Amino acid sequence: MTDYAIPLWDTPCLPVAGGKPFPVRRIYCVGRNYAEHAREMGHDPDREPPFFFTKAPDAIFTGTELPYPVKTKDVHPECEMIVALAKGGRDIPVAKALDCVFGYGVGFDVTRRDMQSEAKELRRPWSLSKDFDQAAPCSQLHTVKEVGHVSKGTLRFTVNGEVRQESDLNKMIWSVPETIAFLSGLITLQPGDVIMTGTPAGVSAVVKGDSLVGHVDGLTDLKLKIV
Ligand code: MN
Repeated sequence: MTDYAIPLWDTPCLPVAGGKPFPVRRIYCVGRNYAEHAREMGHDPDREPPFFFTKAPDAIFTGTELPYPVKTKDVHPECEMIVALAKGGRDIPVAKALDCVFGYGVGFDVTRRDMQSEAKELRRPWSLSKDFDQAAPCSQLHTVKEVGHVSKGTLRFTVNGEVRQESDLNKMIWSVPETIAFLSGLITLQPGDVIMTGTPAGVSAVVKGDSLVGHVDGLTDLKLKIV
């Protein structure tokens, strides 16, 4: 075993229903993958090529009490389906893309919206409005073996029991296989990579004390309290 200069940290992992933990290598997020959300953010939802941003694996959060993020007064948890990859590759054809999938879960792409808006205005990178401590809360994963491939069904986000976001996965502009294929043209996908597939319309702010539930039909709800 390699002897490192500083003690090695634990690999960030996602729990797996009825299985061993899934080690997370990298996190890729799809921007504007539902037309109604693209419109609410002031963009034309025509089928432009998908674009991506990243979160560090350390942003994974699997607890139940999410600390309100620092340096923001406008936190938007975007409810999204997440896809975990067991296999990677380069230039993966759409028809082969689902062979890479290990399983599916529910995640929040937690966003410091005020910081992001300011960065956009100043034409600066908005990485740190998306990638920070606990910015990727996720549910446990369900394997393809258990639930099959998830391409339709309700995605719903509720805050204190009130519905904020509701759509169907079949309304994604870029489907999961298309997203994997496209992304694998930009980078070599690897086992352990996780994709957050984008959020539908209805993104909004949450405050301390709010109870959040992210739901995708057939998967485990992601339940959190903001503290
Ligand atoms: Mn998002």
